[in-house]
Amino acid sequence: MYNVIPDIFMKKENEMQTDVLKKVPVREQDPQVRAHNFDEVCLGYNKEEAMAEASRCINCQNAKCITGCPVAINIPAFIAQVKEDNIEEAAKIIGESSALPAVCGRVCPQESQCEGKCIRGIKGEPISIGKLERYVADTAREMGIRPTPNPNKKGKKVAVIGSGPAGLTCAGDLARAGYDVTVFEALHEAGGVLVYGIPEFRLPKEAVVKKEIENVKALGVKIETNVVIGKSTTVDELMKEEGFSAVFIGSGAGLPKFMGIPGEQALGVFSANEYLTRNNLMKAFKENSSTPIMRGKKVAVVGGGNVAMDAARTALRLGAQVHIVYRRSEEELPARVEEVHHAKEEGVIFDLLCNPVEILEDENGWVKGMRCIRMELGEPDASGRRRPVEIPGSEFEIEADTVIMSLGTSPNPLISSTTEGLETNKYGCIVASEENGATTKQAVYAGGDAVTGAATVILAMGAGKAAAKGIDEFLSGK
Ligand SMILES: Cc1cc2nc3c(=O)[nH]c(=O)nc-3n(C[C@H](O)[C@H](O)[C@H](O)COP(=O)(O)OP(=O)(O)OC[C@H]3O[C@@H](n4cnc5c(N)ncnc54)[C@H](O)[C@@H]3O)c2cc1C
Repeated sequence: MYNVIPDIFMKKENEMQTDVLKKVPVREQDPQVRAHNFDEVCLGYNKEEAMAEASRCINCQNAKCITGCPVAINIPAFIAQVKEDNIEEAAKIIGESSALPAVCGRVCPQESQCEGKCIRGIKGEPISIGKLERYVADTAREMGIRPTPNPNKKGKKVAVIGSGPAGLTCAGDLARAGYDVTVFEALHEAGGVLVYGIPEFRLPKEAVVKKEIENVKALGVKIETNVVIGKSTTVDELMKEEGFSAVFIGSGAGLPKFMGIPGEQALGVFSANEYLTRNNLMKAFKENSSTPIMRGKKVAVVGGGNVAMDAARTALRLGAQVHIVYRRSEEELPARVEEVHHAKEEGVIFDLLCNPVEILEDENGWVKGMRCIRMELGEPDASGRRRPVEIPGSEFEIEADTVIMSLGTSPNPLISSTTEGLETNKYGCIVASEENGATTKQAVYAGGDAVTGAATVILAMGAGKAAAKGIDEFLSGK
């Protein structure tokens, strides 16, 4: 059932022989099997594998991997503890910088961050830092290691809006510094994209996300769900009437974009956010779920990012034949290499260098296909990637009964439009300092996707950390 580790890695029970130039491979569910279930794809390292991988780390004096990590985890130090099988100490080192290590170990783009800077990677493969972080976090959880609250209280209240990675990180750091922190979350569950966006087969909700949120709560953070700031109450009311001395806005970028092409209103066209929320948050894939989901037979997903891969792999597991339609080439796919690789292994078909121009409807208004046009790559555009250009006369049709649009998201204007003096830019993102999260309104800080537009978990966490420091400095008059 599972991909097997090659024999060369099997020496004695507690001692694995590794080729120092190569990562110790990680076990995964077989692609043929996992394409039909929602269980986690990657099974992670066991103790022997983790210790063997850790022993490849040369503990550089000038550890570039730390500079590649947006929350600056002391990577060589925690890996040295894994080598010694001292998980408690390894977890403590990671915990000083990250509130969500089991999440980051699973979803961070390590290849372009810590692992991208690893000296081992110059000649051979970098250390599997993400898989080791995951191993430490999972093992510490199994051992019942929990963070402890700071007994020295500051006597000041801070409100955090949004319980995604930015909000949770900011809340955790402020609680550690002694503040009385309450997180207000619009949805009925905490976690942001970690619970409603990223699918179960990449990031288990009960076993991983909920447990890491419990660790944040263990620091003393209170989480109030079903509170929509801008409707239930406002930022100004929180400060004037509810006694909060500062507010952090980590409300993300959950507003989906569409193409504006004919037929996009047809039945069977979804935003990736809606499709994934039905499945992940509302568990529509389960037989007894009260939330329905369209179980299409032929699904076309438009876009090439992580969200598109998640939507495609979800549709596949719901029984469809799935095509990814992306207007650039494989080289420009913005999704993580690992996600593209997994999607291909599972049988997702990639229609590259083509773009939809119309969604075709049947006589009852349901999707029956898409008219697309072939593209070629021209000169680089503002993003630095080569601009896709239509090839005249190359239009063709593809059959589909469901279309999932995965073209990016922007921040919801609800908070900015109900908060006096909070400036946004032309994309609707809150204007905030990169250094400390300060916005144009005193005592109000912001970070994560609400400021940058759709980005990554670790960047949102980095912003939450910076803002927590900024809030602490502001409230303690530094
Ligand atoms: C499907 C998908 C897959 C992804 N895969 C990856 C990946 O593999 N790796 C990676 O690094 N990144 C990935 N990302 C991106 C990453 O998840 C986000 O960049 C990150 O979650 C942003 O964190 P955040 O805290 O800023 O916002 P979010 O996670 O969006 O959290 C914001 C929270 O604020 C709440 N909120 C919004 N408005 C209000 C309001 N008015 N009042 C109260 N609460 C409010 C929302 O309900 C939400 O819970 C993915 C994103 C998606 C959608």
